[in-house]
Amino acid sequence: MKQIPELFGSMVFNDQVMQERLPAEIYQALMRTVENGRSLNLAVANEVANAMKEWAIEKGATHFTHWFQPMTGITAEKHDSFISPVPGGKVMMEFSGKELIKGESDASSFPSGGLRATFEARGYTAWDATSYAFIKDGTLCIPTAFCSYGGEALDKKTPLLRSMEVLNKQALRVLRLFGNEDVTLVRTTVGPEQEYFLIDKAMYDRRKDLINSGRTLFGARPSKGQELDDHYYGAIKDRVAAYMRDLDEELWKLGVLSKTEHNEGAPSQHEMAPIFTTANIAADHNQLTMELMKKVAARHNLVCLLHEKPFAGVNGSGKHNNWSLQTNTGVNLLEPGDTPYENAQFLLFLCAVIKAVDEYADMLRVSIASAGNDHRLGAAEAPPAVVSIFLGDELTAILESLESDRAYAAAETVQMRVGVHTLPKFPKDTTDRNRTSPFAFTGNKFEFRMLGSSQPVSEPNVVLNTAVAASLDEFATELEQAEDFNAALGALIRRVVKDHKRIIFNGNGYDDAWLAEAQRRGLENLPTTADCLPCYVRQKNIDLFKKYGVYSEAEMRSRYEIYLQNYAKVLHIEAHTMVSMTRKDILPAALRYGKELAETIVAKRAALPGVSCATTEEALLTRVNDLTDQLAQELDALVVSLDVADRPDWNALGRAEHYRDEVIPAMDALRDTADGLEVLVAKDLWPLPSYGDILFSVR
Ligand code: ADP
Ligand code: MG
Repeated sequence: MKQIPELFGSMVFNDQVMQERLPAEIYQALMRTVENGRSLNLAVANEVANAMKEWAIEKGATHFTHWFQPMTGITAEKHDSFISPVPGGKVMMEFSGKELIKGESDASSFPSGGLRATFEARGYTAWDATSYAFIKDGTLCIPTAFCSYGGEALDKKTPLLRSMEVLNKQALRVLRLFGNEDVTLVRTTVGPEQEYFLIDKAMYDRRKDLINSGRTLFGARPSKGQELDDHYYGAIKDRVAAYMRDLDEELWKLGVLSKTEHNEGAPSQHEMAPIFTTANIAADHNQLTMELMKKVAARHNLVCLLHEKPFAGVNGSGKHNNWSLQTNTGVNLLEPGDTPYENAQFLLFLCAVIKAVDEYADMLRVSIASAGNDHRLGAAEAPPAVVSIFLGDELTAILESLESDRAYAAAETVQMRVGVHTLPKFPKDTTDRNRTSPFAFTGNKFEFRMLGSSQPVSEPNVVLNTAVAASLDEFATELEQAEDFNAALGALIRRVVKDHKRIIFNGNGYDDAWLAEAQRRGLENLPTTADCLPCYVRQKNIDLFKKYGVYSEAEMRSRYEIYLQNYAKVLHIEAHTMVSMTRKDILPAALRYGKELAETIVAKRAALPGVSCATTEEALLTRVNDLTDQLAQELDALVVSLDVADRPDWNALGRAEHYRDEVIPAMDALRDTADGLEVLVAKDLWPLPSYGDILFSVR
């Protein structure tokens, strides 16, 4: 293996490569585009494209692609080779500025929620110069945004870039108020911690449910699960360690700052955390990470499961979105400072987040909603479906003393007059309760913990960025007009704390008492995706995104449709897979076992006339028989509910609600019975690897 510093970023057309390979004036023109969003002229683009092509060919690339992130949740690419014919039947390798900047895409089969009528099936992809091009599998990948010809976003990147711009603008206004003139750019930073399961491929291949839906739809609890907590941070098995080394190497080549790896709570569960970077790049890198996690697993005869809940009764997988704001002068705006001036500024940004999360809790909830994540949220392993903020007792006490304009008791030194005195040093709160919070302040950043493991990080960050930008906008407008800045600032912070402190909760989020308390506080509890999706098109939310140009109303309505349809599609696949597995595998196994028992009973009784015998078999047969009948009935019920779901006259919300209210309970009932049979039926007749087989398959 090459030395890591040499390996790192070796497949990325990064800043260093650009400085080396581009003429100085071209490099500077490109940087103006990257940093100030200036549009790039074609002459510059041609030079950049040519340098990229030369570099890529040296690295063995033959093709290029516009790499984009449609509403499917994964990435898309369509490869074109560099070849271009020249007289004499030969070819030369070409890549023009035009091809770099813009691509046409017949994208009619990507979800658009009605935005792109089929007669206008073409979309286009546009180069995002803020994220480096890279080489993957011999193909030069150009990160791009994906839009319709009307300019509507059809992807996850475009709104993220828009939201970062909006936040930058409003954050700069606030910084100016504090006399900060040297900062010219504020970036959102994100570090997403990624959980995943790793299982043996042979087990996976025998489970149609894992293949079709990424999770087990049947499976009785194993006799050994995670009770002993012996997996969390445990020694990493050789095979897994080899996988992680291989994965790191692939990620490093692509410039992904993979940093930390450890075993997670459940058997076969692991986590990877990268070093944080700009939100846009972090989102691209997280997509690459998920893709490579799967690909590298295949090389090791393993399968990487990114589903939020691959195994019932065993911890699911999430993603922690660590989020902060950083200036181009290197200051983290959520880092409490050493001077009164920095402290006041910190408090104002903190208040902006508190207000944003309280006012747009519903949008944050929607931004992480999926059929898969519904299995995690609210179970005692993941945050509840109610959004709240953890600040820690110390910081909460400071805010309370500010609110009541009292001196903060625990600090000997100072009265808490904003802008005048220093904040007492408060320790990072690393209590367990912090881990149960959906949105925790962890010393110098917020950690949004509700994300599902398989979802891209773009959407939650779009919501966070835009909602915080709205708070900052309001603050800046108020303070810019103030005659006495310090007094106005103090009053503003007091008011925000008073109006929004209901969202702050430092207790145990897994506790049922919290749900009752949250209700008293007027915080919404939206347990399922079907429950929360309608919030997406609430007027206040449409107004927010429209106002800042992050989404148009049409974009939001189309995304709402896509999410509803997606929820129904996922459940449709799962339910149909259950039907097929029940018919083809589970029911036949139960019938066969019943037959075996019945034959044994007859044979024993014939062999031992007059002796009371085969009572064990009889009792067992009775139970198997009852459960088999029940299974058949529940199967019929599921089929009926699916027929109803397929009726053409549903609207998207109605269908989603039907899945929630009818199909899911029918799936749960069927599963319960099948799992009951699994416990009874002989192992050699049961067609599926058990939870024990799968969870302990990697040795
Ligand atoms: P833990 O959450 O386990 O205490 P760390 O605090 O080291 O671990 O960080 C967890 C994640 O948060 C890492 O991915 C890290 O890069 C990211 N992170 C740290 N600082 C920031 C920041 N300022 N902005 C965004 N992410 C950050
Ligand atoms: Mg963490």
